[in-house]
Amino acid sequence: MKYDAELIKSYSTKEFEEKYEYKGKDLGCNFTDEGIVFKVWSPLAEKITLNIYKSGEVKGSYIPGASESISDKINDNDNDKASDNINGRASDNTNDKIKEYPMTPEDKGVWSCVTDKDIENLFYDFTVEHKDGSIYTTIDPYAKACGVNGRRGMVVDLSKTDPEGWDDDNRVLPNSVCDCVIYEMHIRDFSADPKSGIKNRGKFLGISEKGTSYNGYKTGMDYLKELGITHVHLLPFYDYTMLDETEPYDENKYNWGYDPLNYNVPEGSYSSDPYDGRVRIKELKQMIKELHENGIGVIMDVVYNHTFNEDFSFNKLVPGYFYRFNEKGKLSNGSRCGNDVASERCMVSRFISDSVYYWAKEYHIDGFRFDLLGLLDTDTINDVRKKVDTIDDRIILYGEGWNMDTALSWDNVKLANQKNINELDRFAMFNDGLRDAVKGSIFHEDQKGFISGDVTGIDVVKDSLKGLPEWCDSPEKTINYTSCHDNYTLYDKILMCNEGITREEAVKQNKLAAAIVILSQGIVLLHAGEELLRQKVDEEGNYVSDSVRSSDKVNSIKWEDLDKEEVRDVVKYYQGLISFRKTHPEFRLTGKDDVESKIEFISDSDDLNCFIAYTVKMNGGGKYLVAFNGGEEAKSIDISSLGCKVQSGVLYVCGEFASSQGEKFCKTEDLDEKSSVTVGAKETVVIGF
Ligand code: CA
Repeated sequence: MKYDAELIKSYSTKEFEEKYEYKGKDLGCNFTDEGIVFKVWSPLAEKITLNIYKSGEVKGSYIPGASESISDKINDNDNDKASDNINGRASDNTNDKIKEYPMTPEDKGVWSCVTDKDIENLFYDFTVEHKDGSIYTTIDPYAKACGVNGRRGMVVDLSKTDPEGWDDDNRVLPNSVCDCVIYEMHIRDFSADPKSGIKNRGKFLGISEKGTSYNGYKTGMDYLKELGITHVHLLPFYDYTMLDETEPYDENKYNWGYDPLNYNVPEGSYSSDPYDGRVRIKELKQMIKELHENGIGVIMDVVYNHTFNEDFSFNKLVPGYFYRFNEKGKLSNGSRCGNDVASERCMVSRFISDSVYYWAKEYHIDGFRFDLLGLLDTDTINDVRKKVDTIDDRIILYGEGWNMDTALSWDNVKLANQKNINELDRFAMFNDGLRDAVKGSIFHEDQKGFISGDVTGIDVVKDSLKGLPEWCDSPEKTINYTSCHDNYTLYDKILMCNEGITREEAVKQNKLAAAIVILSQGIVLLHAGEELLRQKVDEEGNYVSDSVRSSDKVNSIKWEDLDKEEVRDVVKYYQGLISFRKTHPEFRLTGKDDVESKIEFISDSDDLNCFIAYTVKMNGGGKYLVAFNGGEEAKSIDISSLGCKVQSGVLYVCGEFASSQGEKFCKTEDLDEKSSVTVGAKETVVIGF
C-alpha cells in the first residue's frame, strides 16, 4: 500500500488528535429503536457507501488483498427482499449486492446511516473513496459478526446469539490473581487427536464436551477438571487470516492464530458453520458457559500489536493511521510481523480498549493475555484496565512485557514492558527469567538450567520462588512458567540439553520444573500437555520449536500417552502440586512485605550444587520446609537447627508424590533417629512442621 508521508505526519499531531477524537461508543453496526445504525470513523474520506449483500462470501479471496474488490455496481435484477438468506454462501460469482446506502459525514470524522431492520442477517461492507482517488471496499473494523473468511460483516442482533441460560452464566474470577493456575492451550491441539474421544474435534464445542475418555482415562474437559487448573488460556480465537474457512477440516492446515483479521469476531474454522456468522458466536458462548459451569475460567489471547497485513480494514478507512512509521517513512516492524500498531494514537487506543471490553462484556471472558505487550503503550493498557473494571475488577490481565524496538508516533510514550510495569495498574507479565533459569535458555538448545544441574540462574529461581523477579515488586505481577506454545516443549528441551538422558531421569527433571513453578509465589501458567510429557516431533523425528504451521500430528495432545504408567504418574504429580497450592494459602501470598516476612532461605542451601531450601511461615504457627535439588547427589537438611519437630511433620511433596493432605513425615519406629531431611537428586520436598 502507498502512503502519503504528509498525511502520516499530520496524524502524529495534537491538532489531528483533538479534531477527530470520537468518544462515542456506537461505532459499528447497532440495533436501535429507529433502525439499524451504522457508524464508521474515517475523517479524511471523500465518500463512504454502505453495501448490503445476500452472502458473506467473497469467492477466491480468503487472504485479504488477494482480490481487491472495488465498488461494484448494484445488480438491480437481484434486488429482492432480505428474507431467507441465512446460510451466507455465495451461490455463484455474480454480484449479490442487493442494496447500498450513502453514508453521511458527522462530527469528528464519523460517517453514519440508518437502515430498516429488514437487512438483519444480511452481510455488509463499506466502500470508501479517498481524496487521492483510491477506493477501497472493506469490512467494518468494528464488525461483531462476519461471513466466511471475514471479508464482509454480518448484520446480527447479538441478543439472539445467546445460548440457553446465558444470563445466569458467571465468570470464574479469583480473589487474587495468585489463586490462578492457568493452562495455556490451543483449541485444536486439545481435541484434534482422534483418540481424544471428542466428537467436535478441533472446534469450540470440542473443548467443553463432557464424558470423553481414552481407554478408560478421562480426556477433554473432564481431564482438565481432574487436573485442577482454574483457567484455560486459549490461543487466539478472534477471526484470524491464514486458514481458509471454506475448506473442509484438514489436519495439515493449521495455525496458531497470531494473524489478526477481525478483532471482534470469533474465528470461523472453530465453528461448525463458518458461513453463518451467528453460529460461531453462539458456539463460542456455549463453550464458555460450559467451562464456567465446570468451574473453569476462560482467558483470551489477544494480539493488538500487529495485524496480519496492511490490508486491514481500519487501514483502508484511514490509510496509515493504524500503524507506526519509521523515519524513512516505512512501516515500523518491531513485531517482526510486518507492522506495529500505533496504539498511542487516540482512535487506535480506543479501538483496542473497546475491543477488550466488548469481549469481556459480550462473551463473559475472564481474562486477557496480550501478545507482544511491550509494543503497546501504558496509557492504552491502563485504559483497558479501567474499562474492564466497570464489569469486574477481578478480570485477569497479563502479557508479554518484553522490551521491544518500535518507531513511536511521538515522544513521551511509555511502552508496557517489564521496565515500566509499575506504570500499569494490576497487570502481570511473563517471568521469562524463571523460564530460562529452570530449563535453560530458549535461544540455545543445548544450554541447561537448574533442573539439569546448571547453577547460572539460581538467583533468578530464588527471586521467583518469592514471586519477586528483579523487574517486579509483587507476586501479583509475575506469571511463572517454564514453557508455553512458543519454542520446544519442556520435555523436548530436557532431552535436547541432556544428551543420552534416560526416560526416568528426564521425567524427574520435568517434575522438578513443575514443582518450582507451582510452588513459586505468583501466578502459575502451565503449557497444555506439559504434565503429559508432551512432545512436538515432525515426520523426520526432529523436535519442532516453531509449530505455528505444523500439522495436528505435531501439535496435538496425544491422549494415548495416558497408556504409559510414567505419564499417568506425572499427571498425578501435577494434580497433587496444584491441589496442594490451592489448599495452602501460604503459597499464594499477594504482597511483597508478606513474602519477605514469611519466606526465609536456609543456610544449608548450596548454590554451587544446585540446591535451594527455604521455609515458609504457616498461618497460625508452624512452617513449611521447601527444598529443590537440581544437583546430581542427594542432600540433607538439619531440621533440628530449624526448630522443627519431626513428630509433627507432614510430608506433602517428595520424589514420588505430591498431595494437599500429605502423610506423616516419619513412621513412629524411626522417629528417634530423624534429625534431618534428605532430598534426593532432582527431587522436591515439602514438609509442614
Ligand atoms: Ca478466519
